[in-house]
Amino acid sequence: MPFEPLTHEPAVEPGQAVEIARDLVVIPNHGVDLVPNIGVIGGAHSVLVVDTGLGPRNAEKVLTFAAEQARGRRLYLTTTHFHPEHAFGAQVFADHATYLVNSAQAADLVHKGPAYLDMFRGLGTPVARNLEGVDLVAPDVVYDEAHELDLGGRIVRLAATGRAHSKGDQVVTVPDAGVLFTGDLVETGQFAIFPWFPPYDTDVSGQRWIEVLRRLDAAGPDLVVPGHGDVSGRRVLTDVREYLELLRDETWQRRDSALPEETIAAEVEALMIERHPEWEGRDWISKGVGCLCAEHSGHETASAGETAESPSA
Ligand SMILES: [Zn+2]
Repeated sequence: MPFEPLTHEPAVEPGQAVEIARDLVVIPNHGVDLVPNIGVIGGAHSVLVVDTGLGPRNAEKVLTFAAEQARGRRLYLTTTHFHPEHAFGAQVFADHATYLVNSAQAADLVHKGPAYLDMFRGLGTPVARNLEGVDLVAPDVVYDEAHELDLGGRIVRLAATGRAHSKGDQVVTVPDAGVLFTGDLVETGQFAIFPWFPPYDTDVSGQRWIEVLRRLDAAGPDLVVPGHGDVSGRRVLTDVREYLELLRDETWQRRDSALPEETIAAEVEALMIERHPEWEGRDWISKGVGCLCAEHSGHETASAGETAESPSA
């Protein structure tokens, strides 16, 4: 979610798809704002699509591409979380695929989907145009913590991580290929996206996010497909976690000295840009500081309760 109106077309480009493992294709976003990385994972009898792109027209392109890849195999769709560029094209798949997500994400879609639709329509003409005709459809199958999907000779594991980037984050693992789809829990080449919009949306948690990344890293994937940015090795999980830890530590240190949030944001932003001058999305740093300031008040007692919610990942 950029803050400046977007002037470019947030277009998914299936022609640029790359096979990163056997029968496992990623349509890369090539760093284009509001375009996610999209996965098409094949097995002997079924194919799973991960994320739809922004709005029905992008999703049509994804569906056409996936159907070509599938060559008659059954189609499934899942989405990493409810944010518009990841999930607001699901309607297009309705008669063609079984749509499957975790229950927390399904709840996000119901409770927050309409407000996000309004908010995103304010992000400029190309975005608004792509959101014309969006219909927020309910998933066909909902699971709570984890779900194993058999594609035929290939099991794909879907797992709710518990609240982090959003309340309903989900990761998708392809164990035989060592591939992990993280949604927006990981971005490469940019500062972590904190959708911290008080009072409307305060679900993002920097603290829980750090713990989720630790668990994902412990599972030892070989390849990580982030929500946005280049497909990377496992190392990116550490890079993002270390950024979040530094953001937290620098924010909390200043909070302990009772500095006002604006001062903290300005100082921490300068520090983080100095650390990662090549990263984009600098607006997200102060959003992260805001989130972590809110989490600071409870941090002494937080550790006991932090792991209580959805331990799976
Ligand atoms: Zn997101």
